[in-house]
Amino acid sequence: MELYQKTAAELSRLLQDKEITAVEVFNSFTERIDEVDPHLKVFITCTLDSALETAAAVDRRRMENEELHPLAGVPVAIKDNFCTEGIKTTCASKMLESYIPPYDAAVVEKLKRIGMPILGKTNMDEFAMGSSTENSAFFVTRNPWDLERVPGGSSGGSAAAVAAGMVPLALGSDTGGSIRQPAALCGITGLRPTYGRVSRYGLIAFASSLDQIGPLALNALDCSLLLEVIAGYDQRDSTSLPHEVPQYSAAAGRELEGVRIGLIEENISANFDPEIKFAVLKMAALLEENGARITEVSLPHTDYGLSAYYLIAPSEAASNLGRYDGVRYGYSADGDNIISLFSRTRGQGFGAEVKRRIMIGTYSLSAGYYDAYYLQAMKVRTLIRRDYEKAFQNFDILVGATTPTPAFKLGEKADDPLKMYLSDVCNITDALAGVPSLSIPAGLHSSGLPMGMQLTAAPLNEGLLFQAAAVLEKCSDSPPQQRTALNLTGRGEL
Ligand code: GLN
Repeated sequence: MELYQKTAAELSRLLQDKEITAVEVFNSFTERIDEVDPHLKVFITCTLDSALETAAAVDRRRMENEELHPLAGVPVAIKDNFCTEGIKTTCASKMLESYIPPYDAAVVEKLKRIGMPILGKTNMDEFAMGSSTENSAFFVTRNPWDLERVPGGSSGGSAAAVAAGMVPLALGSDTGGSIRQPAALCGITGLRPTYGRVSRYGLIAFASSLDQIGPLALNALDCSLLLEVIAGYDQRDSTSLPHEVPQYSAAAGRELEGVRIGLIEENISANFDPEIKFAVLKMAALLEENGARITEVSLPHTDYGLSAYYLIAPSEAASNLGRYDGVRYGYSADGDNIISLFSRTRGQGFGAEVKRRIMIGTYSLSAGYYDAYYLQAMKVRTLIRRDYEKAFQNFDILVGATTPTPAFKLGEKADDPLKMYLSDVCNITDALAGVPSLSIPAGLHSSGLPMGMQLTAAPLNEGLLFQAAAVLEKCSDSPPQQRTALNLTGRGEL
């Protein structure tokens, strides 16, 4: 087995035992990148020189028997909406095509501090608006399981990178599904942590009451290791939670005896692909065999989730994106006067979906429509939050499908925004409620494509999610090493 096929935990062990060096790990992953990135198109920017320096420094320090973090020397990729000092940060937008931030995002500081080589910045939907990575202003990223299909979005580059063995770990952001949906479509594991668990300082804002940063990896243990690194209080993000960071990785291995699990009726809907529904029921049965108690539960306001999200997120986006005016940041068009400078800059700098969101958001916040749209959506959000609070009085974990279908074809939903929006119908309500939610592989569809199951817990209960996921990994037949998708299935054969 090649090093690039190993999990982060396996690499960490081998590195700590000095059986391999961080430079060897770096070489294995970068060769893999050379081999597959021309086909998948994951990276907007590669930062291999600085990553190699980090790896070499880790090796030197380890030779001197310095005490290092277990993930020192384990490579990582980050979505291109995290600010990186001196490195282009584009948000996959023409607007920020040549923007070089003067500082690092909090999560980037943390990765650097412990010596994780950052291999590059991954492709995404422009400003994280989308579900397929097709909204990137630069190029589309392909799904490693089938090159004619999307990897999901908006963190599609990060998900494809892990699935294809280009990195063992990646970071994404999730506003309404952007970590979990691509994780499911690429056959890997991805966590949206509790709102406020991870500092967003230096994350380019989309919708601030929803944005959250989280890990993508091959399995739950790897996700928990990366969450331990990035979680924690940060005074520079006013929504940051003060709670201490538990040792999440200790959760894997605990029993499920007596854990109460609710099967969300709305997320195994009759409208979903029947094989996905079946896969989720099969996984639920496995949880039951392992001592959990399973009952069906309804989150009755789920039907209104999508409409509420597509008013709240665009409203916040419309105000967050007001700063891109051609004066303070990024792209600037010529104009005869200040108004034409603003409108030409924004007209040329933003893509179609971003403009659509800005228009919806501006409309819903405008005098005369505010009560009917934005305020109404906020009331729905409260009802959805209450659905969860009520459910968590009786259940520890809620489960359902991550997506209604496996990965769709490139271009299939590109002309129909509503169809595209519906692809994260299972991911929206968790985000509105601010609760942690994990997508894990749920086996393969008869088409050969991966399917995902989503597990959700009450705020700050990420550990429970890892615990259940680890039990399922142990007893289900889905291959944990799905990142070798390109070689294993033959579908995406290069
Ligand atoms: N697909 C959703 C959207 O387009 C979610 C995006 C996200 O989580 N960043 O808004």
